[in-house]
Amino acid sequence: MTIPTPYYLMDLSALRRNMEIVARLREASGAKALLALKCFATWSVFDQMRDDMDGTTSSSLFELRLGHEKFGKETHAYSVAWADHEIDEAISYADKIIFNSLTQLDRFADKADHIERGLRLNPRFSTSGFDLADPARPFSRLGEWDLDRLEAAADLISGVMVHYNCENADFELFSAQLDRIEAEFGAFLKRLDWISLGGGIHFTGPDYPLDRLADRLKAFSDRMGAQIYLEPGEASITNSATLEVSVLDIIDNGKKVAIVDSSIEAHMLDLLIYRETAKLPMQGGHAYQIAGKTCLAGDIFGEAQFDRPLQIGDRISIADAAGYTMVKKNWFNGVNMPAIAIRDEDGTIRLVRDFTYDDYRDSLS
Ligand SMILES: *Cc1c(COP(=O)(O)O)cnc(C)c1O
Repeated sequence: MTIPTPYYLMDLSALRRNMEIVARLREASGAKALLALKCFATWSVFDQMRDDMDGTTSSSLFELRLGHEKFGKETHAYSVAWADHEIDEAISYADKIIFNSLTQLDRFADKADHIERGLRLNPRFSTSGFDLADPARPFSRLGEWDLDRLEAAADLISGVMVHYNCENADFELFSAQLDRIEAEFGAFLKRLDWISLGGGIHFTGPDYPLDRLADRLKAFSDRMGAQIYLEPGEASITNSATLEVSVLDIIDNGKKVAIVDSSIEAHMLDLLIYRETAKLPMQGGHAYQIAGKTCLAGDIFGEAQFDRPLQIGDRISIADAAGYTMVKKNWFNGVNMPAIAIRDEDGTIRLVRDFTYDDYRDSLS
């Protein structure tokens, strides 16, 4: 079956490789793994993830509801701030609710007294090098850090969530920062039943020392006497999707530019925000800049190399299009959204969702 471009193509063999690593880590460490839906919420492949993960975690009411309806198992509810009109519905879906601040905990603790309650702890350091994504940035609103205030709330909560890693592929750094958390907050953490270390540990990446991570998590769990949770987003689905596009036009204004039927602004926005380029083919001596079809001057995916000159109609596959990509697609310029297709493990490709003018129209009124 040929599916018209553009489309995101989920590769179930690649997803399976990641899920096998998640399963090994859970088994060896005793930690539970929850999918962070803000990174990836393509629910048509949840059937291929459910057995190897313990559930989902969320950053809003809608993510929470999606996790509850489409993934099931354990559902953690977190939001930077719950509104009064959201809280009852949120509690109805959640196994645990994690408040971002002591004011939110105080405000809603009674309503949530029949489920597990937690707080976000901000250790005031992180591995993020980009202030936009740094939970430890100055004046950060993400979590509480004052030990006296945390101790005072300890009777209302059974656990904490600490999210401070960001694409951290360095096990030594992870381990050293966990030492710091133990040193600074250990006495408080020992009073709790569960500790979530958040996401951002790149343990499905190449050559990651998985056994050392498992041992470190297990030792931490044993010393704290607590169930450890991880909330992998990117690590769960890294390299498991591509964005498939076609060349619409080729121009030469001192440089060869291939315009494709997609847009980095609309279909891979995260790259633009973090000033990264797309992962494009890099084989051969024919160089092109690959650019999007919106009227934004900087709608440029990046530089690519091909082993023969490109022709109009040629297909290009852009790698690593799952995390923070499909969840961020938007209707900028009215460019149609990429469809969503799945490549099964036997190689069959099936279309699971496509978008039309009606979807565009109905996203506004
Ligand atoms: C973003 C986020 C995650 C997932 O982070 P990844 O880097 O995608 O693993 C997990 N937990 C919380 C609280 C987050 O904000």
